Amino acid sequence: SIKDNIYLVHIYHIEETKIIHLQDITMIEVYKQAKKDFVSNVSHELKTPLAVLKAVIETLENEDNPKNAGIFLEKAKNRIDQMDSLINDLLILAKLESKEENINKELVNLYNLVENIFEDLKHLTLDKKVSLINEVDKNLYINVDEQKFKILVKNLVENAIKYNKEYGKVIVKAKEKDNSFILSVKDTGIGIPKESLPLIFERFYRVDKSRSREVGGTGLGLSIVKHIAEAHKGKVWVESKIGEGSTFYVEIPK
Ligand code: ADP
Repeated sequence: SIKDNIYLVHIYHIEETKIIHLQDITMIEVYKQAKKDFVSNVSHELKTPLAVLKAVIETLENEDNPKNAGIFLEKAKNRIDQMDSLINDLLILAKLESKEENINKELVNLYNLVENIFEDLKHLTLDKKVSLINEVDKNLYINVDEQKFKILVKNLVENAIKYNKEYGKVIVKAKEKDNSFILSVKDTGIGIPKESLPLIFERFYRVDKSRSREVGGTGLGLSIVKHIAEAHKGKVWVESKIGEGSTFYVEIPK
């Protein structure tokens, strides 16, 4: 409606006639604000681990007992890994948004792609003994950009492990339709509150800030998933129940 938008008002006088021209600049303003928010979020996300690194160095300077150094160095390493993941995710996002980056589609065996991802992420399942279950048909080939689609599936499986419970399950399936296929990643984890569902694909949105940091997230994983699905002219959505788990769906046209 007209009252919710932001307008630039131009007034012209042509002899006796006054012409008022309203230029709708809502989207420009929304974009400017999003850009501002993004830069301040990135700065904050990088400053937090840097502050910890500085504190660790200062502690080590004053620490006489070399036996204690190991613990502090481990903390420092974790924060460096956190910054490294964030910068990697930022580079992926920047690439996805640059015009030069195109989608290079090829036929990919989805079962094998999922197996490779499970292998890469096995180390994350050990603490909580989460099982990874690949229910994709071994003969299903999909036409996607393999490198990008692997990032998409990996981000979803990684979340499904991170936000799972002890002895939880992660099940990946795919269903073929006439003109598309639907991939689903289901977990038996903590679930997502209803009011957060429309926000989780936004950059840096986290349901529980402290918990997400603890499990090592950058807050960019799902926005990368959405970008990659949209680059394939597809869409993503989620169904979730608190305490029972979540299922993320990705539909890609053939
Ligand atoms: P993060 O790096 O924090 O995991 P994401 O963009 O991947 O960032 O996800 C955004 C937020 O959505 C997470 O912080 C978490 O709160 C929530 N979330 C994502 N996936 C799941 C899931 N499978 N189960 C429960 N919550 C999830």
